[in-house]
Amino acid sequence: MNEIVLASGNKGKIDEVRDLLEGYEIKLLTLEDFPEIGEITEDGKSLQENAMLKAHSCFQLTGVASLADDTGLEVYALDMHPGIYTARYSGPEADSDKNVKKLLENMKDLKSDEERRARFRSVLALYDGYEEHVFEGICEGRISPEPKGSNGFGYDPVFIPDGHTKTFGEMTPFQKNMISHRSIALGHFQEFLETSDLF
Ligand code: IMP
Repeated sequence: MNEIVLASGNKGKIDEVRDLLEGYEIKLLTLEDFPEIGEITEDGKSLQENAMLKAHSCFQLTGVASLADDTGLEVYALDMHPGIYTARYSGPEADSDKNVKKLLENMKDLKSDEERRARFRSVLALYDGYEEHVFEGICEGRISPEPKGSNGFGYDPVFIPDGHTKTFGEMTPFQKNMISHRSIALGHFQEFLETSDLF
């Protein structure tokens, strides 16, 4: 069976990718299988650059084809911020609660659904030592005025995807995976797997 390392230690992300790759002849490893590897730095200027940097570093450290995801929350009224700063939006001690709090605070004067429009954008980068491939997924929606639901991770409790009234945090993992940015990006990766002779 072919092996791929997902360059992530984020349990929420790992569970989603594992679910979405079920049925493929791929053994999914993660950074948890390589405890000697510390945090991989993300100092690129775009989601794509960050994802590719992580995939390259992970390949160099493991020797195994590496898949890395970099995701950003882009709020239209905030000039597409936090974007690449999504993970550390609330500063060096950032965690999901603090990030969500800061986002809601920065959006407190934006009242209408239109003003609260946002999207999640996931970029997946694959590097196997020879070739680079990039897959992107976007999920459009809006930011809820308050957090709702405790499923998922990160900003899920405040993101309401278009066509829905519930936040990702109120959806089951299955419901989120049907429409999420990451599942769209992974769908492109799946199409690639079906046509490529890499795996
Ligand atoms: P990264 O892609 O792991 O660097 O994540 C960037 C930031 O986006 C982190 O704060 C994550 O918690 C958040 N994030 C990534 N994917 C999702 C998602 O699917 N839902 C909610 N938050 C997410």
